[in-house]
Amino acid sequence: MKTTIILALTALLFSCTAKSERSTNPPVLSTALKDSLNQGNPNPYYSRTDTTKLHVSNAEWKKILPPDVFEVARHKDTERAFTGKYWDFTGVGTYYCAVCGNKLFTSDLKYASECGWPSFFEVDRKNAVRYLRDRSYGMERVEVLCGRCDSHLGHLFDDGPPPTGKRYCMNSNVLEFAPKIGLSSGGQ
Ligand code: FE
Repeated sequence: MKTTIILALTALLFSCTAKSERSTNPPVLSTALKDSLNQGNPNPYYSRTDTTKLHVSNAEWKKILPPDVFEVARHKDTERAFTGKYWDFTGVGTYYCAVCGNKLFTSDLKYASECGWPSFFEVDRKNAVRYLRDRSYGMERVEVLCGRCDSHLGHLFDDGPPPTGKRYCMNSNVLEFAPKIGLSSGGQ
């Protein structure tokens, strides 16, 4: 009889534990969360491997992102020229979206444009970004947004070097650089 009670209590305990674990697992973002935790990042939407399109409100992003990143990414602010951490940076590696972890550029696509913002002549892959016509401030420009989280990254101009003639003029604080493994991250 005593053994039966112990077995019943044990079964009940495991049942509750399993139920509790299920209820705390994010239903859609489990892969992203795992990546995020592995990288010590408190942003649950951040992932360098999950390319699922994100639909997150600005109110939610405001709780997660540092203020300067939020202002550029979600309010289309522009950092001042020659002040960002990557405008003259020459490290060898990969640039990810600082908001969601989407892979955007590699260092071999970057060039010294001397415009004061990090500039690239091509994106890592076609769907890495998307484009919007921007008529703000009396100018006709092409806005560049992250293809995964729709954050504002910068603008696209036609005064870049060969082979594309394009200049992806980006804000440093919405980029996150990861050095190529086995190399130091260098700079100017
Ligand atoms: Fe993003």
